[in-house]
Amino acid sequence: RALPADPEEKNFRRQVSEACYSRVSPTSVRKPQLVSYSREMAEILGLSPDVVKSQEFAEVFAGNKMLEGMDPFAMCYGGHQFGNWAGQLGDGRAINLGEVRNQQGEHWTLQLKGAGPTPYSRLADGLAVLRSSVREFLCSEAMHHLGVPTTRALSLVLTGEEVQRDMFYDGNPRMEPGAVVCRVAPSFLRFGNYQLLAARGEIETLKKLVNYTIQTDFPELGEPGRETYLAWFEEVCRRTAEMIIHWMRVGFVHGVMNTDNMSVLGLTIDYGPYGWLEDFDPNWTPNTTDASGRRYRFGNQPQIALWNLVQFANSLYPLIEEVEPLQQALDQYADRFQEGWQEMMAAKLGLAAFQAEEDVPLIESLQEVLQVVETDMTIFFRQLALLETDAGLDDEALIAPLLDAYYAPEKVTGEARAKICDWLRRYQSRLNQDGTDASTRRERMNCINPKYVLRNYLAQLAIDKAEEGDFSLINELLDVLRNPYAEQPGREQFAEKRPEWARHRPGCSMLSCSS
Ligand code: AMP
Ligand code: MG
Ligand code: MG
Repeated sequence: RALPADPEEKNFRRQVSEACYSRVSPTSVRKPQLVSYSREMAEILGLSPDVVKSQEFAEVFAGNKMLEGMDPFAMCYGGHQFGNWAGQLGDGRAINLGEVRNQQGEHWTLQLKGAGPTPYSRLADGLAVLRSSVREFLCSEAMHHLGVPTTRALSLVLTGEEVQRDMFYDGNPRMEPGAVVCRVAPSFLRFGNYQLLAARGEIETLKKLVNYTIQTDFPELGEPGRETYLAWFEEVCRRTAEMIIHWMRVGFVHGVMNTDNMSVLGLTIDYGPYGWLEDFDPNWTPNTTDASGRRYRFGNQPQIALWNLVQFANSLYPLIEEVEPLQQALDQYADRFQEGWQEMMAAKLGLAAFQAEEDVPLIESLQEVLQVVETDMTIFFRQLALLETDAGLDDEALIAPLLDAYYAPEKVTGEARAKICDWLRRYQSRLNQDGTDASTRRERMNCINPKYVLRNYLAQLAIDKAEEGDFSLINELLDVLRNPYAEQPGREQFAEKRPEWARHRPGCSMLSCSS
């Protein structure tokens, strides 16, 4: 269908068929102001700090100004939301500016989130507020520094506009500062891009998109063709397993694992109502929209990823026309996840190698031990590195390094303490059999068990300040989270347990999709 000449008008909301994307224009805003930026990402893109701090940068990355070569577009995709097919979704508030080829020959797509409506905005405004943009900006970079595959964030810019949101549970609309994050990734293609084309029977376009994806982001797989399609699907399964293992390692709960939020590059994408496990509870989800079914709870993430891969496989079926090889790849996901998860857990325990016979039961019972009393997952694993291996210790001395990890240390008595100590003794004897010397083991454990993660309440504190015009905590957190595995003297306050006041405060432990 021919586009209207008026650039504003080409953003009109509609069903888009026979296309992978639509050309759009970002909406101009009143007063762009840079809040924070990632110097690592800027460096990758070849942008000097002076450039990033210029007003022109703020104008471009708020969507007010296009640079030569930029040809903004929004992508068309569908998805399963909370288990149900939702039809066309698309980039409702994301606008790709184009791709940067850097000096290393890498390609990086720049994408503004919150720069105004697109054909895919449906009933929403195409905007983002400071609150959710701070969360996306900080978490993208924090995940990267943790070694978790993720989309990145270049910049966080205030728009100078007010945006209305239904905040939390009271249902009262609230005006909030508008903001735009520039996300960066080699590609933002999701399972849902392919799903929508398959669902509409647009098989030629589907094939074009798959070919494009392989040629652009998986060239090592070779020329597109049926065998390559299968190899690609296997690779997506492999990367997805890898990503979920990392989430389970660091205690990340995505919160909205809809198929439109699953990257075909195996990157963590779309930081909405995500959260970090504080007390270890596999049933926890931060997303209040998912409170009843808890579909996207921490412990369910591996199964949901598989469910999503099954939907993705269905969308590729028209190109393969045989179930068996797709099923084989899915089975491999399950095996690979199991194996990788066990190895990851063994590494979190500082074991030189995973030994199924002893370690399967050891790791399984650890899941229970972490739930005997409320236990901070991050602190527990960090402190576990300090466990003494002397078999002659009494319970009190044995558990001493871990007391910090408990939300109510006074409850670590009697039966509860006995249970924990029983496990610690099994672990001790496993360590003694493993034979790695204590300092090597501690070093290894501290490289896989982070000390600093973006605790939910820390992000909220940074947001509270930012809403008052003080961006210092955003920048400090960004800096702390650059080195999540290092001891950072003087910054221990960022590694502490969640304070009691944060337990039930909205934004600190529970979030809605409203962002
Ligand atoms: P999410 O739950 O964040 O993955 O979003 C699901 C769909 O809603 C995607 O198509 C988003 O682009 C769209 N969406 C979310 N928030 C907005 C908004 N404020 N304006 C327009 N579209 C939105
Ligand atoms: Mg999304
Ligand atoms: Mg979102």
